[in-house]
Amino acid sequence: MKQYRNYIGGRFVDSDRCFDDVDPADGRVVARVHEANRAMVDAAIAAARSAVAGPWGKMPVADRAALLYRVADEIERRFDDFLEAEMSDTGKPTALASTLDIPRGAANFRVFADILKTAPLESFMTDLPGGAQALNYTVRKPLGVVGIISPWNLPLLLLTWKVAPALACGNAVVCKPSEETPGTATLLAEAMDAVGMPPGVFNLVHGFGPGSAGEFITTSPDIDAITFTGESRTGSAIMRAAAEHVRPISFELGGKNAAIVFADCDFEKTVDGMMRAIYMNSGQVCLCSERVFVERPLHDRFVQALTERLAAVRLGWPKDPQTTMGPLISAEHRDKVLGYYALARDEGARIVAGGGVPSFGDARDNGFWIEPTVIAGLPDSARCMKEEIFGPICHISVFDDEAEVIRRANDTRYGLAATIWTSNLNRAHRVSQAMKVGLAWVNSWFLRDLRTPFGGTGLSGIGREGGMHSMNFYSELTNVCIRIDQEPT
Ligand code: NAD
Repeated sequence: MKQYRNYIGGRFVDSDRCFDDVDPADGRVVARVHEANRAMVDAAIAAARSAVAGPWGKMPVADRAALLYRVADEIERRFDDFLEAEMSDTGKPTALASTLDIPRGAANFRVFADILKTAPLESFMTDLPGGAQALNYTVRKPLGVVGIISPWNLPLLLLTWKVAPALACGNAVVCKPSEETPGTATLLAEAMDAVGMPPGVFNLVHGFGPGSAGEFITTSPDIDAITFTGESRTGSAIMRAAAEHVRPISFELGGKNAAIVFADCDFEKTVDGMMRAIYMNSGQVCLCSERVFVERPLHDRFVQALTERLAAVRLGWPKDPQTTMGPLISAEHRDKVLGYYALARDEGARIVAGGGVPSFGDARDNGFWIEPTVIAGLPDSARCMKEEIFGPICHISVFDDEAEVIRRANDTRYGLAATIWTSNLNRAHRVSQAMKVGLAWVNSWFLRDLRTPFGGTGLSGIGREGGMHSMNFYSELTNVCIRIDQEPT
């Protein structure tokens, strides 16, 4: 049986307490995971602190960037191992993991190595009374030890999205991946080891949230900053822990995202795009559209086209290249999503497609599968329209005019992403700018340039990551002000 160990101070460390890593496609145990206790987490934090104080903290930019490029190369060299681990942890299809998760894991290191080499620093020349001047310039320094807590839905992509910029800025990190998906994080530790990352720069501890490694990291007074992606409720618990020692936080949290489909859209491209926006990764992407608003003249045709496409979705084994949708992450999460399917019925929804659990007649019946689903007929005030479900489900509503749909799309406490489909250029700009979100896509969805700001408003998060936004979060800035007198003294 595969063992996933902790990586502390440049060494792989066993624990006498282990938990199972389960493949959601068939419920098989695929690995034993060594849970870090408090002493191990403290050792990881101490190793990180020594690394920042040592040569790593003073390493020339070109050398640090070169190490990050080598991590990217190593992920690509072991592409198949990463792919296998990601698929057995999440059940996601190879068609998705091989084109999104693993390539983005490598790309995150390259992008931040590039940004590190070109990141500008501010400077201002200030005129003073009497002809003197002051030169102000900013220097960028590491924050110190960064605690990184990541979720299970895009395990390698979201972990490296934080590790790469944190290391680019000269920090050392203590990471805790989700207990559901320890595999690719462990391979990342192996990659760090293989490329010669100095001991203590990258530390990995396995475990859970409360009473385990997650809590030990976030409550430690020796962590200098916390970056977290996960549920809004968890974010609020972590925020309380961070407040204790006044640490900076960066939060990427949940969503209840709206899609707006205008009657003048390019119909086929919109249906294709919305299939991705609703069902990618079995709806387990924070950016997925759970609330779809369709303009009345197009409504019936859109619902029909979407349900036809759903009939062609292939729920299959992750390694089958024809598979288009995998299972949910766990039995517990499937219960939660099925709870929302039941709640939708109680709230008076019409089930347009799906709504149940598929039966395969093979080992997949031991996995955590669920049917992709479309519902309709709920008022905007229903709980299913307010709460994040995080499964392969959307509600389709009809709308009549632009002002109405802007108001309804914005009627949520979340504010992560919106997607708008129209061929009217003015409307595209007008409506996307009116969305109370961090990310508005037009005629597209989840189209990312990694230099752009990423994050949400309201319950969807605090701060922005991406490009210079990440560089600024993971750095301490010192402004140096030098007075320049005109008269020689
Ligand atoms: P989660 O909040 O349950 O867990 C995330 C991580 O936090 C895990 O590693 C978990 O062990 C840890 N954790 C849990 N409680 C903790 C505590 N009290 N202290 C410290 N750590 C703790 O989230 P999840 O179920 O893994 O992920 C799904 C959620 O993530 C969804 O809400 C989704 O919208 C959100 N998400 C957001 C983004 C984004 O960029 N905004 C991206 C992906 C996922």
